[in-house]
Amino acid sequence: MEELQSNPFYGVFNRQKANQFKKGNTTYKERLKKLDALKTALEVDYKQQIREALYADFKKPFLETDLTEIYPVLTEIKFAKSNLKSWMKDQKVDTPLALLGASSYIVFEPKGVCLIISPWNFPINLTFGPLVSAIAAGNTVMIKPSEMTPNASKVMAEIVSALYEEDEVALFEGEVEVSEDLLKLPFNHIFFTGSPQVGKIVMKAASKHLTSVTLELGGKSPTIIDDSANLEKAVEKIIFGKFTNAGQTCIAPDYVLLQANLKEKFTTLFKSKIKEFYTDQVELSDSYSRIVNKKHFERLTSYIDEAKQNGSAIVSGGTSNVSDHFIEPTLVFDAPENSKLMQDEIFGPILPVKTFTTLQEPVDYINSKEKPLALYIYSKSDKNIDFIMNHTRAGSGCINHNLLQFLNHNLPFGGSNNSGLGKSHGFFGFEAFSNRRSMMKQHTMGATDLLMPPYTNFKQKLIDLTLKWF
Ligand code: NAD
Repeated sequence: MEELQSNPFYGVFNRQKANQFKKGNTTYKERLKKLDALKTALEVDYKQQIREALYADFKKPFLETDLTEIYPVLTEIKFAKSNLKSWMKDQKVDTPLALLGASSYIVFEPKGVCLIISPWNFPINLTFGPLVSAIAAGNTVMIKPSEMTPNASKVMAEIVSALYEEDEVALFEGEVEVSEDLLKLPFNHIFFTGSPQVGKIVMKAASKHLTSVTLELGGKSPTIIDDSANLEKAVEKIIFGKFTNAGQTCIAPDYVLLQANLKEKFTTLFKSKIKEFYTDQVELSDSYSRIVNKKHFERLTSYIDEAKQNGSAIVSGGTSNVSDHFIEPTLVFDAPENSKLMQDEIFGPILPVKTFTTLQEPVDYINSKEKPLALYIYSKSDKNIDFIMNHTRAGSGCINHNLLQFLNHNLPFGGSNNSGLGKSHGFFGFEAFSNRRSMMKQHTMGATDLLMPPYTNFKQKLIDLTLKWF
C-alpha cells in the first residue's frame, strides 16, 4: 500500500477509481457525446495541428496522416455511434429446465480504471482508437503515449485536457519510466500496443494485480505470391502496404515468399512502380515518410550493411541519408536465414524476398516462426488460398491486398500468441474494455428450492431424475 501511495500517478488513479461508477452508469447518449467531442477535435479543431505534429515527428505526409491516423479513429467513432445502444443492452440467454423459475442474462459492465499504452508508429490512431472503445464501454482511462513521437504526444495531451476531466481521461507524456510507474498501479484493464518484448513486461506487471490485458503486438507478417496472381496488382499493393509510413507499420508485409519463376518480372515491376509512386528521386517525394529516430535509422541501415556484406542481392534501393533519417525503398533477394533481415521484425522500408517452388515450402517456413500478426496471399487459385489458410495460423489476413483488414470495424483486430492477446475494433474493442457479468434472476419458487437439506430419499429421487433427464 505504501508503495502505491508513493506512486506519482496514484492521485489521478484514485480519483478515476472514485469516479468509475459515475462514468460506468452513463447512458449510451452521454457516452456518444464524449465521442462526438473527440470526433470534432480530430476532424476540425486539431486536424491541422495533428498533421503538423506528425510531419515534425517523421515527415509523415499530410494525406497519409488523414488516411492512417485520423480516418480510422473517425470510423471507429462512427461505428460506435451506430451500434453502442445495442452493444450496451443486456444479452438474454436461455435458462436450463432444471433451473425453472429463473431467467438469465449477460451484462456488459465497464472494467473500471483502464490504462492505454500506445506506440509511436501510428500515435493518434493507436491511442485514440482504443480510447473510443474504452469510453464507449464506460471506463475511466489513463494514457501513456510513446516518447518517440513527442509532437504527436503533445497535441494528444492538449486534446485530452481540453475534452475530459482528469478523473475520466488523463494522458501522461514522458519517457519509459512513466510507463513503468503506471504499470505498478492496480488497473482493471491494460490495453497495450507495441512490441512482443515490451508486451511481456506489461503482462508480467499486470500479473501482480491479476489485471486483464489486451496486447496488440507485432512480428514478421509474411506475404505469399503464387504464379496465378495478378503480379502487377500484387506489386502495386505490396509497395503501398510496405512503404506507407516508410514501412513502420505493424501489419506491413515484412517479407515476400515468391514463386521462383516470377523473380525477374517482380523485380522489374517493383522498380517501375516505385518510380511511378515516388519518382526516381524518392528522397524528394512528398509522399514518403522518414524513419522515426536515429536509433531506428541505424538499426535499419545496419540490416542493409549486413545484406551487402553477406552477399544478398540488393536489386533496388539501398541508399540512405542520416541527416533526416531517409531510407530508400529497398528490395533484397537471397538474404541468409540467420541475417537480421530474416530474423527481426523489420519495421522499415526494406523488403526481403525468398523464392519457393512448391506451396508446401512457404507453409513450412511460416510455421517454423512465431505466429504472425497478419498473413497475406496473392493468388487467383482458391485451391492454393485454401491450402495456405488451412495450414497456417495468424492474427489476421487479406487475400489479394494488405493492410485493409484493419479498416473494417466488423472484423476483430489483433494477433495470436507472440503477435498478441485479445482483439480490438468495433464491438471487439467494446468487449475488451467490458466484463461480461453473468446474471441470473429468480422469479418464482424454483426447482432448486426443493433440494435444500436435509437430504431425504425423496430428494435423492429428484436428483436421480434430474441427472437422467435434465
Ligand atoms: P515498444 O514496445 O517499444 O513501445 C510501446 C510503448 O511501450 C511505448 O509507449 C513505450 O513508452 C512503452 N515502453 C517501452 N519500453 C517499456 C518498458 N520497458 N516498460 C514499460 N513500457 C515501455 O513499441 P514501439 O517501438 O513503440 O512500436 C513498435 C512495435 O509495436 C512493433 O513491434 C509493432 O509491430 C508493434 N505494433 C503493433 C500494433 C498492433 O496493433 N498489433 C500496432 C503498432 C505497432
